[in-house]
Amino acid sequence: MIDLKSFVRDIPDYPKPGILFRDITPLLASPEALSAATDALAEPFLGQDIDVIAAAEARGFIFATPLAMKLNAGFVPIRKPGKLPFEFHTHQYDLEYGSDELQVHTDSVQPGQRVVIVDDLLATGGTMEACCRLLEKCGAEIVGCSFLIHLTDLVGEARLAPYRVESVMKY
Ligand code: 5GP
Repeated sequence: MIDLKSFVRDIPDYPKPGILFRDITPLLASPEALSAATDALAEPFLGQDIDVIAAAEARGFIFATPLAMKLNAGFVPIRKPGKLPFEFHTHQYDLEYGSDELQVHTDSVQPGQRVVIVDDLLATGGTMEACCRLLEKCGAEIVGCSFLIHLTDLVGEARLAPYRVESVMKY
């Protein structure tokens, strides 16, 4: 069994003083770790008739396509403003300072389709909550949220209740 935590590099004071950034680029660069991480993200959702894997740019995209292929699902991108060419839904959410916005095509998911949303890391849950709201505007059934890393001292999991939250590594 590969020790995935040994492929996550801690960067103190990035992007701001006082923040410990979990850098996953060593994991992405290793064929064994990347493959094991993708398997672990898929494992809780095997055999659950998942139609779509959705993810927000940019790091969510990295895992979404291999996960979709493992689960025999499609991939739906959730994007920052100004990137989507067709009609889209928008959701604005608060950050520590200011706010941010994510968008998804209105026809990206059909009503009742079963969706898993994936991201590299769960901190406050703001990004994932926005993704859930957007996909619900399309009529999706959110089966769960799958993270590579869950920072458990933050409020992310509570914020995402009652959605099912799965993670590969906890800190
Ligand atoms: P949240 O919205 O849960 O507060 O933050 C999660 C989002 O911020 C994820 O999309 C993730 O890519 C990014 N993020 C925040 N902190 C980190 C970190 O320490 N490492 C990595 N890799 N991403 C982070």
